[in-house]
Amino acid sequence: MRILVKGAGVAGLTVAWQLYRHGFDVTVQEKADAIGTGASGFAGGMLAPWCERESAEEPVLSLGRTAADWWEAALPGQVQRRGTLVVAGGRDTGELDRFASRTTGWEWLDETAIGALEPDLAGRFRKALFFREEAHLDPRRALSGLTAALEEARMRFLFGDSKDKGAFDRIVDCTGAGRIGQLPDLRGVRGEMLYLETEEINLSRPVRLLHPRHPIYIVPREKNRFMVGATMIETDDAGPVTARSMMELLNAAYALHPTFGEARVAETGAGIRPAYPDNLPRVTAFGDTIHVNGFYRHGFLLAPAMAGEVARRLLAEAPQPERLAS
Ligand SMILES: Cc1cc2nc3c(=O)[nH]c(=O)nc-3n(C[C@H](O)[C@H](O)[C@H](O)COP(=O)(O)OP(=O)(O)OC[C@H]3O[C@@H](n4cnc5c(N)ncnc54)[C@H](O)[C@@H]3O)c2cc1C
Repeated sequence: MRILVKGAGVAGLTVAWQLYRHGFDVTVQEKADAIGTGASGFAGGMLAPWCERESAEEPVLSLGRTAADWWEAALPGQVQRRGTLVVAGGRDTGELDRFASRTTGWEWLDETAIGALEPDLAGRFRKALFFREEAHLDPRRALSGLTAALEEARMRFLFGDSKDKGAFDRIVDCTGAGRIGQLPDLRGVRGEMLYLETEEINLSRPVRLLHPRHPIYIVPREKNRFMVGATMIETDDAGPVTARSMMELLNAAYALHPTFGEARVAETGAGIRPAYPDNLPRVTAFGDTIHVNGFYRHGFLLAPAMAGEVARRLLAEAPQPERLAS
């Protein structure tokens, strides 16, 4: 069966990967000239289903808890299984109790245990929640890793205006926010982020700083970089980061550790998270097209499960020779 996957964000690339492994003949078409120009390129890459359950429905946990295994199998060595640390400033420690009451999978840490886990945060917070089972990856490395592996397997990628003149049996549309206004109920939730660069501080895992109005997280990357995210604004305006958002993100980073005040702002950006009213992703079929959309805050976390669902549907129509064991 010939499949055209539209969109090379995390949704499209995981679908392409999964279908390829099940023996389908897949072509990927991406409107931009490169991968990672949509929301996926701005993501934190947190695989954090227990933390996300604080504000998300149950399927985010049940569908997301095996995501780290999927990514590790697809891209060996890219997944960091170091857990998530959740802290709150002196006046906001009540936020930690609230967070704990809405989640599972955590343990309390005292000041000594926080310092043992993250030495550069020693003495800064009296208590914290630690979600030991959570993981993270670098989204840009993951997207280029999947693309490189698929290109090596001779999958066709069409960028920009390139078209494939052949006929396809099915289209799998993974165009994210590109379908706002076309798919019923799909909306955009803007996420602004920035990259800070400093050699003066080390973190080994994502750290979430709770705050009643501006909760943020910092995800360490290679080369002394830290991704600071993210705003949640109900709009599909993908324009540059606003001064207000930049101040909020920088203030929160400074509150986590004043050393971030000396960091260089290496990059700022905004991505539009595609979301349905329940903030859960959907696989929906209209004629010959299957839409995989609505990943909201959970593209890296839930794309593997949704890609599996697409493969199951297509295999039920036309079983293919398995190409590789998964
Ligand atoms: C700041 C921020 C932080 C985030 N952090 C996390 C996180 O830590 N963990 C997590 O799991 N998720 C996170 N997310 C959410 C995640 O990034 C999104 O859910 C995910 O990227 C959505 O993926 P997608 O492939 O559906 O969309 P996109 O990444 O936007 O990809 C869609 C692609 O389709 C292309 N396209 C559009 N129209 C067409 C067309 N007509 N033909 C062909 N191609 C087309 C676009 O160019 C784009 O490349 C975050 C998001 C943001 C913005």
